[in-house]
Amino acid sequence: MSTSSDYPLIVIGAGAAGLAAAAALRDAGYTPLLLEARNRIGGRVWTDTQRGVVELGAEFIHGDQATTWAIVQAAGLATQRAPEAREIALGGTRYPADDPLTLRVEQLYDRLCDPAEHAHAPEYSAAAWMRRIAPDDPAGELALRLAANIEAADVERLSAAAVAHERAGWQAGTGNFHVLNGYSRVMAALATGLDIRLNSPVRQITWQPGNATLRLDDPAQTTLTARAVIITVPLGVLQAGDLTFTPDLPPATTEALHALDMGHVSKLVLWFERVCWDLPGFSSTDGIISTWWQEPAAKPPALMGYTGGLAGLHLAEIGEAAALAHALDELTQLFGTRLRQAFLHGRLAAWSHDQWSRGAYSYTPIGAGAARDQLATPIANTLFLAGEATVTNGHVATVHGAIESGRRAAQTVLKICFSG
Ligand SMILES: Cc1cc2nc3c(=O)[nH]c(=O)nc-3n(C[C@H](O)[C@H](O)[C@H](O)COP(=O)(O)OP(=O)(O)OC[C@H]3O[C@@H](n4cnc5c(N)ncnc54)[C@H](O)[C@@H]3O)c2cc1C
Repeated sequence: MSTSSDYPLIVIGAGAAGLAAAAALRDAGYTPLLLEARNRIGGRVWTDTQRGVVELGAEFIHGDQATTWAIVQAAGLATQRAPEAREIALGGTRYPADDPLTLRVEQLYDRLCDPAEHAHAPEYSAAAWMRRIAPDDPAGELALRLAANIEAADVERLSAAAVAHERAGWQAGTGNFHVLNGYSRVMAALATGLDIRLNSPVRQITWQPGNATLRLDDPAQTTLTARAVIITVPLGVLQAGDLTFTPDLPPATTEALHALDMGHVSKLVLWFERVCWDLPGFSSTDGIISTWWQEPAAKPPALMGYTGGLAGLHLAEIGEAAALAHALDELTQLFGTRLRQAFLHGRLAAWSHDQWSRGAYSYTPIGAGAARDQLATPIANTLFLAGEATVTNGHVATVHGAIESGRRAAQTVLKICFSG
């Protein structure tokens, strides 16, 4: 049996972008229907509250000026600034934040992100650029690990110029902040009063200018029609063809979707009986797990391991038990055997294997500099893409960027479909 209904506006995906889009439409008097494939809201914001609070997806509010703060403050959520000091670990030896090696890694990473370095050069990959300026330099390799981690990228493909361009477009201020009761609370605050249907994956959109019909993959085989649809489905899901379009999306949109890359991140949480480490803030390593920090609101205490790029994909592929074994070996090398003895539980969040994101967040490979602008362009004034991959300033791959993209799509829909 199939069911069918009409809506003026539908938003697909209840992550940061979809929730922000729906809230903006609601505030303008046009409450849309919000369809979400998962059994929860938040998408790539996903707090685990089984043992205190740990973040399996997005961790920090990046920047003291990020759009997210207005939501945090209205909801009365407590936050804590993360310590910024970063040590380096090379072959199990730790180098403090003020060590010349650590400073050289930071300096090389900062140069990679400096637009002046890329103003006249041909477009290099991050790896090729680093090999040119720091050949055979372990600090260069570590700076590349840092870039792979932060950008979730294969550094042989990542455009160095795009990294710098996106950094230059950053307007969210400085600092990294935890939401102490969990990032998911920010999503819950955005969702208040919205019409959200969970467990509702959209499989196909049949569209023409001014009208779209959505087929859901649910037991009732629901079809829904709408005047306009905001689509916040992650880049990885669109690239995989899990959501299909009839007719196909315009060639320029399809090319832009495939020009960008969906990056990889695996996060590994390890809970311990007690704190048996001395971490300044972050520890960036040349091990299988690239970066460590302490979760501030885990009970019992927990370390978070973050591995981006191809190493993140590797962790997803070897699975939780093998990833934990590597992590404990590497942590024991850094902090001694008492750490292994105090280990209680571990959990791997492998975003590359998540069917509703198929990766962690997007990055810009060589030659794809114009793709995000194209994705942000409305399709026949009927389909409107939003989400972190469609962000056109420096806030790509962030929660606040996704929120801004959802609001941009909502304002565009209101202007095109409902003004006058
Ligand atoms: C491990 C990790 C760490 C990160 N760390 C940070 C950080 O510290 N700070 C930061 O600012 N950002 C961080 N990010 C990035 C941030 O999480 C994302 O940029 C942001 O959450 C993306 O929001 P979105 O709405 O674009 O996409 P999503 O949150 O992915 O929302 C899209 C929604 O669409 C749904 N969906 C997918 N397919 C369908 C379908 N066919 N039908 C219906 N629904 C569908 C999904 O289930 C999902 O809920 C991190 C991301 C990851 C993965």
